[in-house]
Amino acid sequence: MEVGPGKFLLTRVDDAARWAQSSSVWPLTMGLACCAIEMMSVTDPHFDIARLGSEVFRSSPRQADLMIVSGRVAWKMAPVIKRIYDQMADPKWVISMGACASSGGVFDNYAIVQGVDTIIPVDVYVPGCPPTPDGLLHGITLIQQQIREGGRGGFLARS
Ligand code: SF4
Repeated sequence: MEVGPGKFLLTRVDDAARWAQSSSVWPLTMGLACCAIEMMSVTDPHFDIARLGSEVFRSSPRQADLMIVSGRVAWKMAPVIKRIYDQMADPKWVISMGACASSGGVFDNYAIVQGVDTIIPVDVYVPGCPPTPDGLLHGITLIQQQIREGGRGGFLARS
């Protein structure tokens, strides 16, 4: 459909709201381990997360709608992560970034949670050790897709 002088665009309020929401997914400022270094690099000009509308990392869970679990989760951290997740307003999404967050990775021991999805629901898994910044950006586009088209959980990003 063309939009211009003398022309107009029809849509549903629901669709407009989903479009706006998917274009401004704000991640929580939270890094857990080595994967967090790759997460931070998506904000640099080379990867430019701003083109997805997600450059605003918020320090307060009340102002964030995306939690990126970037690295291994120690059992000591598990209640903290759950509490922060609970403090985020609905609707909210979660990306499990890296092998450790998704399955414990190389840390198959008593101290590490063997998959953060045993504590909180996960919408997108980004594989890798560590995943590339491109992989994380792909994960965020999958979150956007979920917001626009509906459906939750279990999406796998490319590494
Ligand atoms: S997946 Fe690899 S890079 Fe990420 S936290 Fe685990 S060991 Fe570190």
